[in-house]
Amino acid sequence: MKKILLIICLAAQAAVASQAQTNQSDSAVPKPVKSFDLDAIDKSVDPCVDFYHFACGNWLRQNPIPADQAAWGRFNELHERNQVILRNILEKQSADNSNRTPDDQKIGDYYFSCMDEAAIESKGTKPLQPVLDRINAAKNKSELPQLMGELHNQGINALFAFSSEPDAKNASMVIAGTDQGGLGLPDRDYYLKDDAKSVETRNKYQQHVTNMFKLLGDSPDQAASEAKTVMQVETALAKVSMDRVERRDPNKVYHKMTTAQLQELSPAFKWSEYLVTIKAPEFSSLDVSEPDFVKGMNQLIASDDLDSIKTYLRWHAVHSAATMLPKAFVDENFAFFGKTLTGAQELRPRWKRCVQYTDNDLGEALGQAFVAEAFPPASKAATLKMVHELEDALKKDISQLSWMGPETKKQALYKLAHIDNKIGYPDKWRDYSALEIIRGDALGNSFRANDFEFHRQLNKINKPTDRQEWEMTPPTVNAYYNPLENNINFPAGILQPPFYDKNADDSTNFGGIGAVIGHELTHGFDDQGSQFDAQGNLREWWTPQDRERFTKLEDCFVNEYDGFVVIDDVHMKGKLTLGENTADNGGLRISHMALLDVLASSPEKDKDGFTPDQRFYLGWGQIWCENETPEAARLQALTNEHADAKYRVNGVVSNDEGFAKAFACKPGSPMIRKNACRVW
Ligand SMILES: [Zn+2]
Repeated sequence: MKKILLIICLAAQAAVASQAQTNQSDSAVPKPVKSFDLDAIDKSVDPCVDFYHFACGNWLRQNPIPADQAAWGRFNELHERNQVILRNILEKQSADNSNRTPDDQKIGDYYFSCMDEAAIESKGTKPLQPVLDRINAAKNKSELPQLMGELHNQGINALFAFSSEPDAKNASMVIAGTDQGGLGLPDRDYYLKDDAKSVETRNKYQQHVTNMFKLLGDSPDQAASEAKTVMQVETALAKVSMDRVERRDPNKVYHKMTTAQLQELSPAFKWSEYLVTIKAPEFSSLDVSEPDFVKGMNQLIASDDLDSIKTYLRWHAVHSAATMLPKAFVDENFAFFGKTLTGAQELRPRWKRCVQYTDNDLGEALGQAFVAEAFPPASKAATLKMVHELEDALKKDISQLSWMGPETKKQALYKLAHIDNKIGYPDKWRDYSALEIIRGDALGNSFRANDFEFHRQLNKINKPTDRQEWEMTPPTVNAYYNPLENNINFPAGILQPPFYDKNADDSTNFGGIGAVIGHELTHGFDDQGSQFDAQGNLREWWTPQDRERFTKLEDCFVNEYDGFVVIDDVHMKGKLTLGENTADNGGLRISHMALLDVLASSPEKDKDGFTPDQRFYLGWGQIWCENETPEAARLQALTNEHADAKYRVNGVVSNDEGFAKAFACKPGSPMIRKNACRVW
């Protein structure tokens, strides 16, 4: 399974999107999403009182959450459109014929197998049986390392994570790494907190685990007792897992040691046997992100009986396979992970799920066709031009900062100059030739795809870091900065309206994709990114005085966002969301600077009753229009590093005197913070 990657992305929920109403036989690609949307605006709201509801009020009323969604926003509208494009590609390629390229055979047959519910139904749990038998056959705890290796080979994410990663202190080389893992709920806090809501979620989770065991054929009593065992094992893992806020400190999750030292931490688990089973290249040292987790896992293996661990592994096997098993499993999986956790009322139509799984497992094969269809070279050129304009603005901003000294500035400008820009899609597409996709074998395809990805990652160990690779697939509506590679990445999926619209004016595009580019650029200088140098190495390049001043400025954001209430008594976590909030605030400012430079040579007039500046801020506000269920809001506040949509707008503009000026807000207006925060 994959180690938790340190990449810093733009948005929280883009990947779970899609609208229910689209008719299955309707292959017409919806019209592009509107970028600047007059109809979205609620003019009855004063922009200086609540800008988010001014920019989005009518949109929010007109766009209720579809039954199969947990949230519905502009990201989802675009994702929906991209999905229809992908489905058309997949339906064409799923026809069985000999004229397909090897990649087309793979995406076509993967999709076909996933869609073939009748075949999946008739096979029942048979495709999963070999895995269950294998777990059942273990007679001694000494067999665990080999068993864990076999499960990880198939993408069954139990006990811990293992993969490769650039060495944070020598980022041009890839090393092996192991990390915390093995939980079924989204975060350690779900197991450990005692408030009523956490207890309720935990009880429902335990019931879900019970139900899954029942579907495997266990008696109700047996299933209930097994679920209790699963809770005990996972709670023990949760207790030794690190908190999300703590994990934001890259030094706290970097512990390079020899394999002998790793073995000393966990005498009950023979790592050499695990490494042989996963066919990892030979290595002598690795990053053990959390030594305390490894110790705790060792304690668990040493003290628990084998049957309990086998029960826990059996749960993770069925959990991993659930989406490719018969309907009863799919429905039960949705009932907890969809309905209870995110508040979605209905399962997404099958085709949308199958498009999503194909994108997850064969993203760069499917992505080539998407790029050909939806991302003309002109879009790439226009984006690149904007990236350069944004880089110039950030350069100017850093040079002018009053709180940063000349030494740190020099280093910061050097780092900025070395940020690599990756736009749209990879220069070199992934080679899937080692992955076999068999028509009619839905679960087998999924397991083989997991195996392919796991070993693709492992095979990087001891090799130079390939910075041309992508962590997101081309149709993805998202973007990211990678601190270990010092690059910004914008998949073709987001370089579309409403973010970038070739027919829109500069002010709208700079409020949209411009601010997104600024957001990613400033991630190189947030509380995490700033700890990595131009080459991606974890190394302090700030003077102590500048680091101290920077931290003080950041504390302002921590306090501001800590104060926002998301739902009931759940506050946003200022420290968890700090990097994203700094990026939102900095990104919008930098983009505004870049826009002013562009408008100086090609001025814009007022339009639709709005000045260019106003359209710029509306461009930002309107990309975040979003309705969400209370469950989704809670989940995001507890586990996600991105602020809630409303605060990504109001939290940011209320710090920005440019906004106050654009809308002529009077002193004392709610959208003018008394203690405005600013880093960039
Ligand atoms: Zn971000």
